[in-house]
Amino acid sequence: MNPFTFTQSGDVDAALAHLAAGARPIAGGTNLIDLMKEGVMRPGELVDINGLNLEKIEDGPDKGMRLGALARNADTAYHETVRRRYPLLSSAILAGASPQLRNMATNGGNLLQRTRCYYFYDVGTPCNKREPGSGCPAKDGLNRQLAILGTSEQCIATHPSDMCVALRALDAVVHVRSSKGERDIPFADFHRLPGDRPDLDTTLQPGELITYIDLPDADRFMAHSAYIKVRDRLSYAFALVSVAAALDLDGKTIRAARIAMGGVAHKPWRVEEAEAALEGKQADEAAFGAAADILLRGARGYGQNDFKLTLARNAIVQALTTAARGTDYAKGEQR
Ligand SMILES: Cc1cc2nc3c(=O)[nH]c(=O)nc-3n(C[C@H](O)[C@H](O)[C@H](O)COP(=O)(O)OP(=O)(O)OC[C@H]3O[C@@H](n4cnc5c(N)ncnc54)[C@H](O)[C@@H]3O)c2cc1C
Ligand code: SF4
Repeated sequence: MNPFTFTQSGDVDAALAHLAAGARPIAGGTNLIDLMKEGVMRPGELVDINGLNLEKIEDGPDKGMRLGALARNADTAYHETVRRRYPLLSSAILAGASPQLRNMATNGGNLLQRTRCYYFYDVGTPCNKREPGSGCPAKDGLNRQLAILGTSEQCIATHPSDMCVALRALDAVVHVRSSKGERDIPFADFHRLPGDRPDLDTTLQPGELITYIDLPDADRFMAHSAYIKVRDRLSYAFALVSVAAALDLDGKTIRAARIAMGGVAHKPWRVEEAEAALEGKQADEAAFGAAADILLRGARGYGQNDFKLTLARNAIVQALTTAARGTDYAKGEQR
């Protein structure tokens, strides 16, 4: 294990000063500690941010909600108002990890969890994300879990979060602070595609701390939403493909739609053109299939993950069909 210093901070400005000097924040530690144990990440200083008083879940501007960066995933998913007004988010969080992990994991940390590509975790192999310029063995190797959309020559990794798929569908906004000031990042711009810098997962700048996530009012989608996650085991497994779907219906006619996908790209995947194609249509399989074809335009497999092309289309149709029947409020495992 690499030597590092550990500081506990109870004050945001003091924590930001540490981050400006190159320290890395630690929240629940459920991803960062694993990465440090494997030698994938080697921070020289950790700042424990758990004392920063950023765990509130409260009303946000314009009838929305504000989720503190340090609120635990379990507390967010089971929050009474989140469950009622954002059942899509609740379901997505409860589809992830295990009750113990969700009790520890924070909202900010969830956004910044790193890919589960096997090569990324194995420091004995090349990997452009871990070591830029070293190569990408996944393209011709173990790629069953990996991306079919938005890939590059350099990297075909997927972003593993379930929560982020719902946040993308809900048009969330990430609020960040650094010693230089603060800014809002629309969720669409928060995660990035690999391009020729696969080492960068997000547009977060060095020294920036996530303080909260804003959810805009989405009440019109409340009654018809669904999160579908297809995985190798029923629990404690990352998505092969997942879909967050929400519909605003007038009888059987679609007024508006939201569809985001996980397990298929380096960021939650959303194509607004597919949603626009549903507007004014009857909520039926033909319309859902046509939207799926737009969402999956340009998709390609790399051998082991070719099955995702069919799986993704089926999952989109299933998620939209389930949403159209009415929200099945997340029951999930209890904490
Ligand atoms: C066995 C296992 C199974 C899992 N299964 C799933 C799954 O099915 N679906 C799923 O979505 N997730 C899954 N996870 C991942 C889990 O959700 C994440 O590990 C967790 O959300 C990370 O949150 P954390 O608070 O523990 O982050 P940490 O590990 O503390 O931090 C993660 C990263 O975020 C940074 N960070 C943390 N907070 C902030 C902040 N406020 N501002 C700036 N930077 C910050 C840290 O520096 C670090 O780089 C699984 C994890 C494990 C171990
Ligand atoms: S897909 Fe990305 S993370 Fe996986 S080996 Fe290639 S460069 Fe590394």
